[in-house]
Amino acid sequence: MHRLAQLDHDFVWHPFTQMRDWLKREPLVIVAGHGARLRDVQGREYLDANSSIWTNLHGHNHPKLNTAIHQQLKKIAHSSALGLANQPASLLAAKLVAAANPAAAGRRPKLNKVFFSDDGSTAVEVALKLAYEHARRTGRVEKPKFLSLDGAYHGDTLGAASLGHIDLFHKSFSRLRFPTDRVMSPYCYRCPFNRAKPERADAREYRKCNWECVGVVEKKFAAQKRKRNPYAAFVFEPLIQGAAGMISQPHGWLRRVAEIARGQGALLIADEVMTGFGRTGGSESRLQAERWPGKPPQGGTPNLLFACQQEGVQPDFLCLAKGLTGGYLPMAATLTTQKVFASFLGEYGEFKTFFHGHSYTANQLGAAAALASLEILSAGPSVRARQTLQKVLRDELQTLWPLPNVGDIRQVGLTAGIELVRNWRTREPFDLRERAGIRVCEAMARRGVLTRPVGNVIVLIPPYCTTPRQAGRMVGVLKTAIIDALQSGAT
Ligand code: PMP
Repeated sequence: MHRLAQLDHDFVWHPFTQMRDWLKREPLVIVAGHGARLRDVQGREYLDANSSIWTNLHGHNHPKLNTAIHQQLKKIAHSSALGLANQPASLLAAKLVAAANPAAAGRRPKLNKVFFSDDGSTAVEVALKLAYEHARRTGRVEKPKFLSLDGAYHGDTLGAASLGHIDLFHKSFSRLRFPTDRVMSPYCYRCPFNRAKPERADAREYRKCNWECVGVVEKKFAAQKRKRNPYAAFVFEPLIQGAAGMISQPHGWLRRVAEIARGQGALLIADEVMTGFGRTGGSESRLQAERWPGKPPQGGTPNLLFACQQEGVQPDFLCLAKGLTGGYLPMAATLTTQKVFASFLGEYGEFKTFFHGHSYTANQLGAAAALASLEILSAGPSVRARQTLQKVLRDELQTLWPLPNVGDIRQVGLTAGIELVRNWRTREPFDLRERAGIRVCEAMARRGVLTRPVGNVIVLIPPYCTTPRQAGRMVGVLKTAIIDALQSGAT
């Protein structure tokens, strides 16, 4: 075993990993990366098919990002945001506000305050605490209650975990979490209201229903209102719920439920930790024409960076992390409104201050990387590359339908989830203990493509720099791996 692998075995405890399994084999030790490729300590190359857990946008070792960080490093790496402002964080906040309000065009942007933190969990945690206090201080509710979606995952800190509804992750900590409510999410493939028989297509396309899932949300809000304690906030991942199993929402669902929530006075908390920064497409003109409500802003449809915008939904909180720095450094941001900000203003002695913050808040290296990443994102070549990759991915994924263990393929822009089933005609799932997803990913790794499953769903989230050839290889290897791991009876 390589010395570094041995050190890992001896001392490192990995997240979301059964360490007994981990210790059975030599781990891959990554020492370098370039574009969509990763290289391990043995000199073997791999494609990074999940963008290093959904963080990387433009590829590894990107010259512009490297330069931005080097330049910043020559000045300073970090100074505290407690009591001090800094150059890249101020610039970044302004850019994020512009990106979050594409339709503002001269008017005051709605999401105009940025609270920096470190990770997706902290971005959500901040939104949660702000929404809680705002709801109380405005006198709307005394004991603010939150509603999130079935299968929700918003992070692992206890506040964020309280919004989560994945029993496997959250149940054992239930005594530590505060109670929140959950409501049906639109999982067309396994929806009890979908009367369509399984077809060889994305279930959102052939579903037969009357939007009963929206009715369920409506009823949930109404019931809570009758208890004289209307929901303070509705928390959701827009367009696709990642850790729930890449559960993609049919077009129009988000717009409808956001209207219901707004109608009941609830704040909208959009967790775009995974979906943000172009992950869900949005620069495709057809999508924009379809989803941009009313007239697009002057100068044509903008390069929409956030999933909410594709449904014309403007939340009260926008939680960002993962791709914020292009996948280089841990940094997060929670954007919110002047109204929320105002409820924390007062004389010092009133102690209305938001007493929350982290040592590395508004880190200068992270902010410099994020600025460079935003610049790359808005440049023509990146926009075009994303459009091409989205289309290539769509075409390649079609080749998986002939496999009997492929039940559903859910692509939203540059994310895709492939749900593995025992039998596509019956939608019969694999028992989690069979490790179907893990086995397929192990078979992929042996062939040089790295990703992690979410249960029985294989996730493909390629970096935006992935070439059509590399995308073809990711899907081709996945196909062979499914056959190898599931059809040959291998365990
Ligand atoms: N929200 C969503 C939607 C996520 O996917 C994740 C992480 N997978 C988080 C929050 C938590 O982010 P982090 O792991 O950076 O704390």
